[in-house]
Formats: sequence, C-alpha cells, structure tokens
Amino acid sequence: MMRHDVAIVGGGCVGLSVAKHLAERTDLDVAVLEKEHHLAAHQSGRNSGVLHPGFNYPPDSKKARFATEGTSRMKEYCAEHGVPCDELGVLVVAKDDAEEERLETLAEQAEANGVEYELLRSEAEIHEHEPYAEGQAALYAPEAASVDSQQYVYALASEVRDEGVDVYTGYEVTRVEETADGYHLATSNGHFEVPYLVNAAGLHADELAHQVGVGEQYQVVPFRGEYYEVRPERAELCQTMIYPTPNPELPFLGVHYTRRTDGKVIVGPNAVLAFGREAYDNTDVDLRDLYETLTYEGFRKLLSSKLMVKVAWDELNKSYRKEKFTEASQRLVPDVRAADLQQSYAGIRAQLVSDDGELVKDPLFVEREDAVHILNAVSPGLTSSLPFGEHIAGKLAEKV
Ligand SMILES: Cc1cc2nc3c(=O)[nH]c(=O)nc-3n(C[C@H](O)[C@H](O)[C@H](O)COP(=O)(O)OP(=O)(O)OC[C@H]3O[C@@H](n4cnc5c(N)ncnc54)[C@H](O)[C@@H]3O)c2cc1C
Repeated sequence: MMRHDVAIVGGGCVGLSVAKHLAERTDLDVAVLEKEHHLAAHQSGRNSGVLHPGFNYPPDSKKARFATEGTSRMKEYCAEHGVPCDELGVLVVAKDDAEEERLETLAEQAEANGVEYELLRSEAEIHEHEPYAEGQAALYAPEAASVDSQQYVYALASEVRDEGVDVYTGYEVTRVEETADGYHLATSNGHFEVPYLVNAAGLHADELAHQVGVGEQYQVVPFRGEYYEVRPERAELCQTMIYPTPNPELPFLGVHYTRRTDGKVIVGPNAVLAFGREAYDNTDVDLRDLYETLTYEGFRKLLSSKLMVKVAWDELNKSYRKEKFTEASQRLVPDVRAADLQQSYAGIRAQLVSDDGELVKDPLFVEREDAVHILNAVSPGLTSSLPFGEHIAGKLAEKV
C-alpha cells in the first residue's frame, strides 16, 4: 500500500500544473498517477499547440482571465525551461459581412481583456501578414504563440519531480473508493491510500468522478480532431497562424492553419464523434465507449437538433473524404490543393455534455471536502494550464 497526502490522477498539463503549484505553496507529499508509460499521450500532446490570448472570451469570464494570463505566463515558462515557443501572432479571418461583424465583438473583447490586436480592413492588409490567406477583413493578435505542448508537459514533470513530487507512470487508476480518512485508489500497479484527491483524468475524468457519486449529470463525449500537414515544399502557404472567425455556438469548429515550432504547417482539426475515448484512427472502435455514448440521453438530446445533425454530417465527410477536408481548408487559403496535404496526427477532445443535451463550454470542476474533480478542462486548456492549475491547487490547499 502506498501512502501520500494528495493523489493527482492524470499527468496531463492540468494535473502536472496542479502538482507544480501544490509543491510550490505547501509541504504536502504529492503523487501524480498517470496510466500511460509516456506523458502527453492524450489531449496535452495531441492538440494544435496554440497559445490563445483571451480575445475569444467574454470579459470577466474565467476563460478570458485564464487564457490571457496563461498566454503570458506560459511564454515566460517556456523561455525559462527551454521549451520551444514562437510568438507568431494569429490572423482571424472574416469571409463575409456576418463574420466581419463578429470580428468587432472579438475586438471589443480583446480591448476589455487587455489583449493586443489590430483590425485589418482589406485583403491587401491581410496579405501583408499572410500572402495566401483570403478574406474581407481580419483581426490580427500578435501575442498568440505556437508551443511544443509535449515538451511543455515533460518540462512540468521534470520540475515537479525536482520539487519532490512522485510521478508514477504506468499506473492506471481502476477504482476509486471513499474511506473514513479519504480515498483508496486501486491501480494497475498497486494500491494507494490518500486523504486528498485531485481528479485530472481528462477523457476519463467523468468515469472516475461517477465512481464516488460526483458529476453524474455529465458525461464526456469524445470528439476526434484530425490534422493534415502541408507538404514542406508548400509550407509558405502559411507563415504564422490563420483561423476562421469562430461561431460562438460551436467555438471548436473550423479548420485552421498553424505553423508549429518545428516549422511544419498543420491544418485542422475537424470534430467528428470518436468511436472510443482513445479511438485516434477513424477505423478504431471501442465498443464499450461507443455503447456508452450512443445510449447517453445527453448525447441523444444533442443530436435532436437539426443544426447538430448537419454539423455531424459535414464533419464526418471531412474525416472520410479528403476532398471535403481540402474544400474546408480552401476557405481560408484557396491555393491549397489536395496534393499539398498529407494525413498527420489526431487528438480527441473530452467534450463534456450534460444530461439535458448541452455542450459544456466553460471550465468546470466540482469540489468535495477532500477532493477536486476537474470535469471540463476545456480548450484553451493548454493555454490556461498554469493559472488554472494554480487555481485548483489553491482550492485544495484551503481544504487541508
Ligand atoms: C484536437 C485538439 C486541439 C486542441 N488545441 C488546443 C490549442 O491549440 N490550444 C489550447 O490551449 N488548447 C487546445 N486544446 C485543449 C487542450 O489540449 C486540453 O484542454 C488540455 O490538454 C487538457 O489537459 P488535461 O491535462 O486535462 O488532459 P489530458 O492531457 O488528456 O490528461 C489527462 C491524463 O490523465 C490520464 N488518465 C486518464 N485516466 C486515467 C486513469 N484512470 N488513471 C491514471 N491516469 C489516467 C491520461 O492518460 C492523460 O495523460 C486542444 C484539444 C484537442 C483535443
């Protein structure tokens, strides 16, 4: 039996950030239990790697505060720890009048959240930043950056280990039970007893929370996001980062272009229902996960909207038909051709859905006397990970 003061389940950017801040501000004996043998195997290592300064989020929201503060803190962190991070700036492109109007809202939010921006009113101005992008207007945010998220996770892990945190990799928590003094955790590699628990298990956070009666009105519905890479000889098609104007109802939709820190240009992601929480290939099926999703009343209610059925169909097409993905990519950069795109990696979003069929769009955690369950570390969860982890560590420290 292994004993610690706190067990953090999940060694992604969120769990490790909680560990970092607990180690910095308390004397607690902290353990991180990670089921994979390598870190960053899921969301924290399979994303676009973009630091989003807070222009996308309403002023005074937690999302805005965490994203704005997270962007600047992460740049400092990366510089200090040798993690590749390039401040390239992002161009959010409007293709029609309705989108141009939404850019005004983004500009107001940027203003209120203290984010630098510039509105570009013509294609000529857009071309000064991105010669191949096409649109009638754009918002340029110079503080957005591209980061190597896997190296960031490893830097966090190495830092917390130096501060005395035990990071157990290859330890899958299979059962969580409440005891008189806290929690008993059964893992694939032995048992743990702890008075305090942080559940930061990403795609599996709801499953662990449900075992102790927390968050039962929610379920994670996994959405796969697939990327293509622009062939290196055509990488000039995107110099920095090119995004579509987001739809406030479905903010995670819309393929974008990102120049990664290794110089590769990736295009994506789409958002298609994954047939398993870790079904990274579009032929992977996990029957148990799929059954859970299809029988979940929240999912069925979500699909009862005509808009969602149309979106699901479009996204499915982009997954199975390259020409559809190419068409979506041409919306921002018309010169891109199917032959310029080669299939790359995929990530899976832990999209939290409520029993009434709503997509939960804000960060959500549930506190117990002796635990914090992070049910929705929603995008931009990578950008926000330092202030968000600090916030959760603060909540836990108050309980001890
Ligand atoms: C396609 C995609 C693109 C994105 N792009 C961006 C972006 O550009 N910018 C941005 O800011 N955010 C982005 N995000 C969001 C961001 O990646 C996530 O919000 C963030 O990584 C969440 O981190 P996490 O630590 O909560 O989850 P994870 O990284 O998923 O970590 C959870 C960990 O828990 C472990 N675990 C699960 N169950 C158990 C168990 N039972 N026992 C032990 N360990 C367990 C898992 O193995 C995993 O390592 C994107 C996400 C996706 C999917």
